[in-house]
Amino acid sequence: MPKQQSVSHTTFSDTRHRIEQDLVNIYEKNQLSIGLPNHFKRIFSHLSRPNTVAIVGVALGDEGKGRIVDNKIEELLKNKRIEHVAVIRFQGGNNAGHTVEKDGTKLALHLIPSFVFHEQASGLMDRGMVVHVEDLQTEVGYVEDAVGSIRNRLVLSDDAILCTDLERAEEFLNGYLQEESKGGTGRGIGPSYAHHYDKTGLRIADLLSSDWEKRLTNRFEQYEKIFAAFGLTLSQTDVPDFATTVTNKKASKRGLGSKKEFLSRLHTSREWLLKRQIVTNTYPLHQRLSANKSVGIIFEGAQASGLDSWTGTRPDVTSSNTTVYGVREGTGFWTMQDIEERIGIVKLPYTSSVGARRMPTHINLPSTSPSPSRGRVSAEGGGVRGTSDQLWGQWIREEAHEYGTTTGRPRDINFLDLPFIIYNARMSGVEMLMGTHLDICREKDEIKICTHYKDKKGNRVPYQPGLRYLKEVTPNYIAIPGWDGKACQKAKNAEDLPIHALKFLSFIQKSLNYPFIATTTGPSRKDFITF
Ligand code: GDP
Ligand code: MG
Repeated sequence: MPKQQSVSHTTFSDTRHRIEQDLVNIYEKNQLSIGLPNHFKRIFSHLSRPNTVAIVGVALGDEGKGRIVDNKIEELLKNKRIEHVAVIRFQGGNNAGHTVEKDGTKLALHLIPSFVFHEQASGLMDRGMVVHVEDLQTEVGYVEDAVGSIRNRLVLSDDAILCTDLERAEEFLNGYLQEESKGGTGRGIGPSYAHHYDKTGLRIADLLSSDWEKRLTNRFEQYEKIFAAFGLTLSQTDVPDFATTVTNKKASKRGLGSKKEFLSRLHTSREWLLKRQIVTNTYPLHQRLSANKSVGIIFEGAQASGLDSWTGTRPDVTSSNTTVYGVREGTGFWTMQDIEERIGIVKLPYTSSVGARRMPTHINLPSTSPSPSRGRVSAEGGGVRGTSDQLWGQWIREEAHEYGTTTGRPRDINFLDLPFIIYNARMSGVEMLMGTHLDICREKDEIKICTHYKDKKGNRVPYQPGLRYLKEVTPNYIAIPGWDGKACQKAKNAEDLPIHALKFLSFIQKSLNYPFIATTTGPSRKDFITF
């Protein structure tokens, strides 16, 4: 049997032509090719679309995905054949906070993909996302105040999941009825996804339909009845007030209000959507993007693999598929195999997290801090008393400003947990890694790394997702030498990095068995080193 020849990449648009050609080759010319191609490197690599990149977190979020997307846009645009980059968000809502920084201007993005600092880039909020339209309007205003108009460079899928204040009130009700917190931002993301699955939810297209008012009136009245059954008044229920939160940098709430007020707010949002002409059917758009080789494409993940609704730290997880696999459902067009570079982002040399979960490598720090301002606690701990682990954790929290992007809530600090990262890198469908925060280190500190877990009898046990299991394991640590983080920030190339930083990267790469293709050494776009 003749071996298959190497096959060049084919776009979706020329599939028809290819099929016709194949029919001629096989049936008329008897050119049969069965079996694996000669000298293949990646099986079926010819299926991927050039210059497509997926960027997802492989820990517990806030790894720096937003800034990596910004770096990656710059990198793609250096390719002379690429004229434009489309950044596609495929899951999550404004429970995400992605920071991008350029020339001293720092922006926190929640729904809007991280393209805003690049003139030659655009953003697509796709059908897998949950979108609260009033919040989107607030965010567009906030971004345009900082970078100028992004009109015509931002589109929203008509099939995206609509989130209203009702789903936010429902999240409050769920919390009220549960004994134990399951996390959640209160922004209605969980209930909105729940109603995607139970098929009672609404889409952006429903808000734009002519009978929107009737549908949303019915919905409001249903929720009123449910709340009344639990002795609660829907209109008096507090829901997050995103606009005030963004302005004051502090979680703020307001009453949901009467049916009239609810509909009036939605009416304003609807008018804004229509006037802005931001909503579109994304399917033909994907077809055009895939066929146009001068466009680079980035799929921007939100949250992270450790928070995936199935393989994350259940029950304290987010409600969507946060991995590269989620691109399929979140776009309804692209598959994981289409994507040429699948990159996992990992924070080094520690992991931070927000939520109720306690990871085995958790460092016990106060859950509130004196003030979310950089440098309040000095390098020596600034009067904070505690063990050396706690002093290190507190130093990390202040030095890396580990406070929530929107609310300023202090994040938990955990030692780097190899079993956890190995599992999550694998589950996330990535093939390579980028590290961030290499500058958050001091020469005088040893870095503690968890190499494996032990059960109560001292037996080595593997990582398993889910907090019930993780509660029962004890981490085993090794300590390796630290390095000068400030020297990392000054480095322009890999050779300029401190030797112990390079050794650390090499050790982590070996342990994870995924190549590091770059690392960041500070929050700015320029703090980016490729290997
Ligand atoms: P995302 O949710 O993964 O996009 O990450 P966030 O933006 O929520 O959090 C990452 C935080 O780390 C932001 O405040 C970034 O400005 C900051 N950051 C990103 N990369 C680096 C880095 O290499 N060094 C330092 N010191 N900070 C970084
Ligand atoms: Mg974040």
